[in-house]
Amino acid sequence: MTDDIRVRMAPGPTGYFHIGRSRAAVLNWLFARHTGGKFVLRIEDTDQDRSREEFLHSILDSLRWLGIHWDEGPEAGGPYGPYFQMGRLDTYRDYADRLLATGHAYRCYCTPEELDALRREAEAERRPFRYPGTCRALTPEQQAAFEADGREAAIRLRVPDHGTTGWDDLILGQVTYANDEIGDFVIRRSNGIPLYNFTVTIDDLTMRITDVIRGQDHISNTPKQILIYQALGEPTPRFGHYPLIVSPEGKKIGARFGAKPVSGLALDGYLPEAVFNYIATLGVTYEGDREIFTRDELVRLFDIGRVSRSPAIFDPDKLDWMNGLYIRNLPPDEFVSRSLPFLEARGLISSPPTPSEIAYVKAALVLEQERVKTLAETVEAVEFFLQEDITYDPALLVPKKGTLADSVRVVDAAMDVTNSLSEWTVEALEAAFRALVDRLGLKTGVAFMTLRVAVTGRTYAPPLFDTMAVLGRERVMRRLGGAQVALQNWERAEPTAVQ
Ligand code: GLU
Repeated sequence: MTDDIRVRMAPGPTGYFHIGRSRAAVLNWLFARHTGGKFVLRIEDTDQDRSREEFLHSILDSLRWLGIHWDEGPEAGGPYGPYFQMGRLDTYRDYADRLLATGHAYRCYCTPEELDALRREAEAERRPFRYPGTCRALTPEQQAAFEADGREAAIRLRVPDHGTTGWDDLILGQVTYANDEIGDFVIRRSNGIPLYNFTVTIDDLTMRITDVIRGQDHISNTPKQILIYQALGEPTPRFGHYPLIVSPEGKKIGARFGAKPVSGLALDGYLPEAVFNYIATLGVTYEGDREIFTRDELVRLFDIGRVSRSPAIFDPDKLDWMNGLYIRNLPPDEFVSRSLPFLEARGLISSPPTPSEIAYVKAALVLEQERVKTLAETVEAVEFFLQEDITYDPALLVPKKGTLADSVRVVDAAMDVTNSLSEWTVEALEAAFRALVDRLGLKTGVAFMTLRVAVTGRTYAPPLFDTMAVLGRERVMRRLGGAQVALQNWERAEPTAVQ
């Protein structure tokens, strides 16, 4: 029975396919895979003024990047095409004619000015605007007169004056609307363009969609769509409306994630598997508090009834955390190969990198794998390994609890150690430098900070001796020399600082 399940997502190519919109894809895809059903992609391109090719690509690229395969739709084809609404105008016309013929819809000749006047009247009386049914019962003669006048008719659905329209929502439970709150609504404009509630219903009907899962922003459309199914004498699909996502402050999600295509997150260094995991678990529980799942586990455990009824919080920090976790779990070679393009793009290594660059960068990257949250962060994290010259902030070479004189001593002595060390390993480096600090009678933390700044140019870096081991003797020598010069210059510039 379950292999009859058919779900869809129906984006309009009128804006970037951002995180919020991709949720429709993730949830519908999980539902389809869980039930062994089909996931259909349909493009709502009837808004020709706003539809753009670039946005269509952003939808398709983003889905592909997330690893979401559509069973039917653009490029994939399928038995219920075309999958672009502009290719389905004849079908909409046929169904509109059918509704006119059965009297479930009628032609409305009201002009925009007349409707505006009614709307203003309602506003003045502080009541919600409902179309009063002016054209509901026009005689053929009256219609002919309007047509002779050059008026073009819109088509409205005749909505029952009384009663209610409701459904048992897969996520929200029972939802009911009073019909008299809905009013006869336009299904096709006077310029012949069919409107969303009508086209989406005809599409879902003719594509045999069994479950419509979409955002709660569409909830007030659903009674209208149900009324269309009823007018056509067709059974309605099941509906599920998930709450939208909001920022941790309860607002719309910001530009960083709200206004760019999901596939663009690749350039920011997010892993598609992490983003998929995050979107899939946003406002959905699978197994207790657990948040990290493989794609197969998500498919197996997905249950539409476990989608939360309250808004899901999109927290960029949480996404970063999850991305970092996925990065840590990558096999080192894969982490390296996925990071290289970021370093190439910044010109830190050649493009393509040479084998010796790869080997060096790999040793450096592996030290950072635990720490970076996005692949883009690897640039900043390993930059200092690759720079020929380090520019020093001399003040950093003298830590808070240290003195200029001590910094000079430790850097000078470090040069001797570096020069004479017989074995260039983490262990040998550590033993030699600890002994050195003891010999000079300095505080380890302070002296090591000076050395860290000397060899990396910064106060924050991976463990000192791992870093030195990767940098190699020559680079360490050169950098200690650079630090020495920086300290001397400082000494000259600020003699009073010498203690
Ligand atoms: N184009 C609509 C949207 O992307 C489709 C809504 C629906 O799923 O019915 O929001």
